[in-house]
Amino acid sequence: MRKEDEFGFEKVVEVYDQKTGMQGVCVMHNTARGPGKGGIRMVPDLTTEEVMGLARAMTWKNAMADIPFGGAKSGIKADPKSMTPQQKEAVVRAFARKIAELLPGQYIAGPDMNMTELEMGYIADELKNPRVTTGKPSSMGGLPHELGSTGYGVVVATRVAVGHLGLDPHHLTAAIEGFGNVGTFTMKFLNEMGVKVVAVSDSRGTIYDEHGLDYNALMRTKSEKGTVTAYGKGRVLGAKELFGLPVDILVPGARPNVITSENVNGVKAKIIPEAANLPIPYETEIVLMKRGVTVIPDFVANAGGVISSWCETEGWDAERMFRVVEEKIKNNTKVMLEHAERIDGKDTRKAALEIARQRVRDAMVRKGWMKKL
Ligand code: NAD
Repeated sequence: MRKEDEFGFEKVVEVYDQKTGMQGVCVMHNTARGPGKGGIRMVPDLTTEEVMGLARAMTWKNAMADIPFGGAKSGIKADPKSMTPQQKEAVVRAFARKIAELLPGQYIAGPDMNMTELEMGYIADELKNPRVTTGKPSSMGGLPHELGSTGYGVVVATRVAVGHLGLDPHHLTAAIEGFGNVGTFTMKFLNEMGVKVVAVSDSRGTIYDEHGLDYNALMRTKSEKGTVTAYGKGRVLGAKELFGLPVDILVPGARPNVITSENVNGVKAKIIPEAANLPIPYETEIVLMKRGVTVIPDFVANAGGVISSWCETEGWDAERMFRVVEEKIKNNTKVMLEHAERIDGKDTRKAALEIARQRVRDAMVRKGWMKKL
């Protein structure tokens, strides 16, 4: 049995398709707030336990985002590198057929590792229903993450933290790790907010200019030369040096575990919006919070993508989606910061988790699944 606590797990469906050899799993952790939402990943070493952990994380993320979705996740155990595009399509379509009865009432699919809008298109086509998945091509009514919803949400959360601390964005500097989807849009929207972005990194290193970096020039450099370090002005530093720069806002936006006990003492920033997933282990977050740093946990700061997914299921356009991302992330960051003030150690992650769990409990009470505590 898979019961963990009062929240879940609700359903763990393991599937196998004899014809294609497809093996997969669809996990619903808790659907009190709405159909379970979480992407499908395709990896060769997939385990049911891994997918269960991710499904549980989605329950808290979706509740904290305050969207009417429960938590779920799926996985297909396969190596996409060893497959032809036709084989991959056949496997994805087989997975969709096997879990068809769950979609979209109990589960709504979406892309995750090694799955793109192409595969989401196959799923919608196979089940003859665009509502079964988000992340579809825009020609099928999709709202692709390339619109920048996640970076936008990161900056909305940052703006709330800046206001909470009584700071003026025009006097603040920022450094951003990663210059992909999230990093580029974070820079664009931080600039629009008046913050001076002085450092950006990618896998080849960091470009640092205390006078500020030019967004358009940096975009051109990255697309023409493949790395931000070819920018031509300022100083080139190692990728890890970004985390110790004298900036007010530090955005980890690429990889997990980048600020740890090894470099935390060198961090000078006052505000850390976590754009990437799990960029700082919890015990290091506590060290930062004790030093008075405002950490905005990943599942609060980077929820723009999942909020955009909900807007896609509602059939809304990009303009409305940006308005909804702004409204939700603004409110959620505010209530988290206020709740953190009231609890021990001003722990923002603990505060956000408590709010998310309470929202799920309230939904379970409304449904008659549990008694009011
Ligand atoms: P991406 O692939 O578009 O970009 C990743 C960037 O990180 C690239 O610029 C790459 O050069 C850079 N990078 C790689 N190694 C690096 C290193 N050692 N140092 C510095 N930079 C390095 O990915 P993305 O979509 O921007 O996602 C970034 C992070 O945000 C991931 O943790 C992802 O899980 C998380 N996230 C993304 C979204 C979304 O909507 N894209 C939503 C929520 C969370």
